[in-house]
Amino acid sequence: MLEPRMPATQASERGTMPEGAVNLSKPLVLIVEDEAALATMLRYNLEKQGFRVEEAADGQEALTRIAEAQPDVVLLDWMLPAMSGIEVCRQIRRRPATRDLPVIMLTARTEDQDVVRGLNTGADDYITKPFNMEALLARIRALLRRSGAMPAKGQLVFHDIMMDLSAHRVQRNARPIHLGPTEFRLLEFFMQHPRRVFTREELLDAVWGPDIHVEPRTVDVHIRRLRKSINGAGELDVVRTVRAAGYALDTEPV
Ligand code: CA
Repeated sequence: MLEPRMPATQASERGTMPEGAVNLSKPLVLIVEDEAALATMLRYNLEKQGFRVEEAADGQEALTRIAEAQPDVVLLDWMLPAMSGIEVCRQIRRRPATRDLPVIMLTARTEDQDVVRGLNTGADDYITKPFNMEALLARIRALLRRSGAMPAKGQLVFHDIMMDLSAHRVQRNARPIHLGPTEFRLLEFFMQHPRRVFTREELLDAVWGPDIHVEPRTVDVHIRRLRKSINGAGELDVVRTVRAAGYALDTEPV
């Protein structure tokens, strides 16, 4: 039997994720911290809260990981060996690709002068050690919402598709998608239950309503329209057809 092969980067990413395809909607946090115990504690808590995590133990490694992994937010320790957190932050701000990357400074220093200096170098926020994990999580989420890396209330994200339910808008890869009312409800239902396979009857019940009597084949028509609208040229078909079973929203076709 042939095993599907995956690129190395995707394969390693899968390790930290629950079963299923690579979920790009999970924000990636880079922890830059030379105290291993603190880094481990942060990783544990962040992963538990649904973040992906990368680590770097010094400034040089941090800049390399930022370029390679493109994190959504950086937790940057102030006191690092060799290159200080402030210098790392300065370099992040100097590079066009990372100019707007959210940075939270972790610092044991409480002197106001130091804090001001940290923010002047371009950190978006800072938190003093020892810190409360809830407070740190709240700041991470606030920064991610501001940068658009984290869905706000009323938004659904799957792979590169974003649905804004309150504004009734759909985007894929930041491109606006126009859907008919039935396709919109169908996509909304799929995005609420990603990767689960639904029979035509289940979809009729959930999307059309249990009292509406339409042919199961109607589902196929709307699935076809949905596919046509959301799959642009060269884009992955995210609607998976499961023979004799039904349909699922999935990034793995088979
Ligand atoms: Ca340190």
